[in-house]
Amino acid sequence: MTNENQFDVVVVGAGPAGSVSARFAAENGLSVLMLERDREPGIPVRCAEGISGGGLETFINIDKRWIASEITAARLYTPDGNMLEMKSEVKGYVLERRIFDSALCDIACNKGVIMKTKSNVTGMQRNNDHTVTLFYKFLGEERQVKCRIVIGADGIESRVGRWFGLKTNLKLEDISTSVQYTINNIKVDRHVISFFFGTKIAPGGYVWIFPKSETSANVGVGIAGSFASHKRAQEYLDEFVCAKFPNASVSYIVYAGIPIATTLPNIIADNLMLVGDAAHQVNPITGGGIKQAMIAGKIAGETAAEAIRKDDCSAKALKPYSQKWEKALGSKHRFMYSIKEKVLYASDERLNKISEMCKNMPPDQFTLTDLFKQVIKGDPKLIADMAKAFVVSKINF
Ligand SMILES: Cc1cc2nc3c(=O)[nH]c(=O)nc-3n(C[C@H](O)[C@H](O)[C@H](O)COP(=O)(O)OP(=O)(O)OC[C@H]3O[C@@H](n4cnc5c(N)ncnc54)[C@H](O)[C@@H]3O)c2cc1C
Repeated sequence: MTNENQFDVVVVGAGPAGSVSARFAAENGLSVLMLERDREPGIPVRCAEGISGGGLETFINIDKRWIASEITAARLYTPDGNMLEMKSEVKGYVLERRIFDSALCDIACNKGVIMKTKSNVTGMQRNNDHTVTLFYKFLGEERQVKCRIVIGADGIESRVGRWFGLKTNLKLEDISTSVQYTINNIKVDRHVISFFFGTKIAPGGYVWIFPKSETSANVGVGIAGSFASHKRAQEYLDEFVCAKFPNASVSYIVYAGIPIATTLPNIIADNLMLVGDAAHQVNPITGGGIKQAMIAGKIAGETAAEAIRKDDCSAKALKPYSQKWEKALGSKHRFMYSIKEKVLYASDERLNKISEMCKNMPPDQFTLTDLFKQVIKGDPKLIADMAKAFVVSKINF
């Protein structure tokens, strides 16, 4: 299909999941339209902007313009103020996501993707010829476009899956209610990211400090949605920032949610694949979803090309997408979810005890695996699950 109102694939949303799906579909010969409701991709920045380097080059050549800081260590603070330091196992970055997301879109457009911003997709209709019509509002004008495959990359607020009959609801405790500030006039080590845990600091979550320079940082908090009715996330963050950075100047405030669940049981339907946050593909413990979204996007784009080549866009033909996602990260995320409560809901006493147990490990030998080992100690079922997960999916924290 190629005319202005007909495409092989329409991607809804131009975040990392959307732009990478679009690019790989186009690179594999498909005509692709990507619709984004905001004025520019990546804005507002609903993200702490941290990412590990490993594998990033699969998607993009690393460019200094969108790297705010290179990270060499992570510090974890427990409620009693103890600090555990881990040296990064791989290179880490704090991104400038507004530039990074745009760069991913530029790559997609250079591969032939047509991208339209200010295009809010509002609904869909199935047609008798096995195509789908999507309705969208472009600069206030009602428009429609026909396609054979829709890639729903519309983030945590996703509606696309529901239009196709998928169950996409999240339990309250599986939504991390988050608020983040960009703060200036502070002093931070720009190569170290910090996490603060504790029921009084961030119940069911954590506070992060991700440095953007020596004098500025992305500081935020995520708490489990089930705790948000007692006290708002912003109150936790204000208390933290006032205590830690009394002279800070807050320049940006962003409120957002993160789906800290397992991947939706069904991420495909006839003519549809859901990717990224829309499919709940975020790491359920860390809330990291950028790289996950790109990995899913690549698989979805390639699967779309294969389906169109075979002239079959049914759910059955799109199944390799969910199978490959399961193999890549799906089973690992299920395992992470199984220990999520142990990590994020631990009592202050338990957190303090874990830090005591890990305190004497040298930072360059101390890894997330060691930490999780302490977290699950004394829980035979989890130890068995963990061993199984290692064998089955070769987990490498
Ligand atoms: C506070 C916070 C901190 C985070 N920190 C990190 C971190 O440090 N590291 C990390 O890896 N991840 C982090 N994440 C998660 C990460 O931001 C997401 O997992 C990632 O952005 C998912 O990409 P996506 O493309 O699926 O969705 P998004 O980036 O959310 O993109 C979805 C896009 O779809 C568009 N859209 C939605 N509906 C429509 C519609 N109807 N029509 C057209 N367009 C539409 C939206 O405007 C948006 O641009 C954080 C998230 C939050 C909220």
